[in-house]
Amino acid sequence: MADSLHCDLLLTNARYLAPDMTLVSGKAIALREGRVLDIVDQAQCAYRGDAVLDGRDLLWMPGLVDGHLHTSQQLLRGRLLDEKPVIWKRVNVPFESRLDEESSRLSAELAAMEMISCGTTGFVDAGGKYPEIYAGVYEQAGLRGRLSVMTNDNPFCPESLRAPSVPAAVERLRAMRSALTGLLKPIYSVTTPTAVSEELLRAVFQAAEEDGVPVETHMNEYAGEVTEFIERCGERPFVWLEREGLWEAPMTAPHCIFLSQEEIEILARRQVRVVHCPFSNCGKGVPPAPQLLHAGVPVGLGTDGSAHGGLDLFREMRLFRGVMNVTRGVGTADSSVMPAETLLKMATQGGAAALMEPGLGVIERGAPADLIAVDTAAPHLWPTQNLVHTLVESASGADVRHSIVNGKLLMKDRELLTVDADRVRREAERLFERQPWLRSWK
Ligand SMILES: [Zn+2]
Repeated sequence: MADSLHCDLLLTNARYLAPDMTLVSGKAIALREGRVLDIVDQAQCAYRGDAVLDGRDLLWMPGLVDGHLHTSQQLLRGRLLDEKPVIWKRVNVPFESRLDEESSRLSAELAAMEMISCGTTGFVDAGGKYPEIYAGVYEQAGLRGRLSVMTNDNPFCPESLRAPSVPAAVERLRAMRSALTGLLKPIYSVTTPTAVSEELLRAVFQAAEEDGVPVETHMNEYAGEVTEFIERCGERPFVWLEREGLWEAPMTAPHCIFLSQEEIEILARRQVRVVHCPFSNCGKGVPPAPQLLHAGVPVGLGTDGSAHGGLDLFREMRLFRGVMNVTRGVGTADSSVMPAETLLKMATQGGAAALMEPGLGVIERGAPADLIAVDTAAPHLWPTQNLVHTLVESASGADVRHSIVNGKLLMKDRELLTVDADRVRREAERLFERQPWLRSWK
């Protein structure tokens, strides 16, 4: 019989962020078989762990979940800052179309390194040419995520990314799905309804419903794209999707900046997982986040990939707080229009909703054991009168000391345990020598 007091990893003297965003101290957290087995008073703890981590001067919190990133744009970092919109057609997609298998593998390895080192434990990728290669890397790294092939049949799309036909696009998604196992699951992606044929949109959504796989598509990201869609289809995108009745699968919708009241009601009714990407969205507009939250829409945060200011969700929380205050709070003297607790929920529970992983995003008995430890003794974090506020105001990914996914340590004392960072750097340098275009994409 299994020893009921045995656990894989025991977090002693633990202080942690509870699901309601209050702090709980003096606990021991036992992890077993990928889950939080128990949380007990430290003084009464009888658990024995194969490994033990002491929590003095740390705050354990749920791992952050990046609800929207592009692994295939990892090597575009620094390229987009001063670009005029709309960048994705002009810069990002042509860049991605030239990636080969090796540059794709290194993109994923670099993204995994960056995510783990800044406290991200789960992600939803928007899709690329080689999701199977990404899967091999992310599985080795131990991260949790959803992967996809980005489907697009628009003539502007370079041939290596363009779906040769609608059935071929669906077949490709299904092949990708059957290659994913463990912590990596599929999501069926369409670039954006504006940029693809109605036939492709219908086919991908229908396949998602048939296969029990969620769908993901960039939604209402640019005002001009919404107008273009209305000109073509006669209605705003979410209104059209619902009226056409082709949309039954659960949906993750990155951006959602330009929404009508009717669309907000649809999002609430269908529990669409909205993902705002604050730094990326600053070049486009300000989403109606308070209205969405008020309507009961699950809202998460994403980075939109490393090329949009990096993968650090702490920075996205802080930026979003500033954007919300300036645009929604100041005019009505509502200084708590976007409280720290709400932002932390968005980066944890909201991201987990976008990832569609039940129970993820909180620390409680039975939850998946995806946790990070923030070093709260750092001079910029201690002392504080309100640590929850300070996490949003002053913490960054660099303050994350340990990272655990599915009960397994991926980073300990800031040392990456599942990715060989030196090897990845060496190989990336060699790759840049062989393919210099990767470093200076025009
Ligand atoms: Zn995106």
